[in-house]
Amino acid sequence: MRGIKGFIPSSLIDWPGKLCSVVFLGGCGFRCPACHNSRLVLEPASLPDYPLDQVLSNLRARRGWIDGITVTGGEPTARKELPDLLRTLRKTGTRIKLDSNGSNPSMLKELIGRRLIDAVYMDVKAPLNMKEYSAVAGVPIDIRIIKRSIGILKRSDLEVVFRTTAVPGLVEEPQIREIRDALGPERPFVLQFFRNSSTLDPEFSKVEEFPQGRIENMRAEFESATRRPEPLANAG
Ligand code: SF4
Repeated sequence: MRGIKGFIPSSLIDWPGKLCSVVFLGGCGFRCPACHNSRLVLEPASLPDYPLDQVLSNLRARRGWIDGITVTGGEPTARKELPDLLRTLRKTGTRIKLDSNGSNPSMLKELIGRRLIDAVYMDVKAPLNMKEYSAVAGVPIDIRIIKRSIGILKRSDLEVVFRTTAVPGLVEEPQIREIRDALGPERPFVLQFFRNSSTLDPEFSKVEEFPQGRIENMRAEFESATRRPEPLANAG
């Protein structure tokens, strides 16, 4: 399959509580100004494809040692080949976690219905209205699509975690409170925090990061369950 742009054999931070491998897929329909994966988003074709055979042989060789694989991006559901990739990964007997920005509810539904994934971590980027969501995602967003993905995930029997990246000036305490309240308590909610290195919009590299004390306060006030080390705001 084309489109695999990176592979990490072992990670302790991408699936909380698990040792997992990570596959990165290129492409994404969003243009979040604070994104850290700009090359993967803006010019995936400039990155070499990572051979699927090598991913598979690595997974087979370490069966029993790793707990699963995280498929991330970019935005994995932007790739129509994703179901085929997951089917192939499944054959290695591995558990699969998907990172998603919720932009493709139809594909999420298909993947859940076909039992191709075990967990989804969905980024909920802003309060659920078109104006704020579009500002954080960097493109016009039909908020009904995001709400549909949230509903599909909430009704699923998968491990589901919603996560929001706090971004100075865009997503601060009032917005996080609104997002968390809209999502409700049924599923864990975790935060990530803006970092001003290599942002998609170069202007954001001038934005000051949140001080550690404020980060701790936000975590204490808003997060529920499933905390883990998280060095950077991630894609999804
Ligand atoms: S942060 Fe995620 S959703 Fe936003 S542009 Fe980057 S990869 Fe896409």
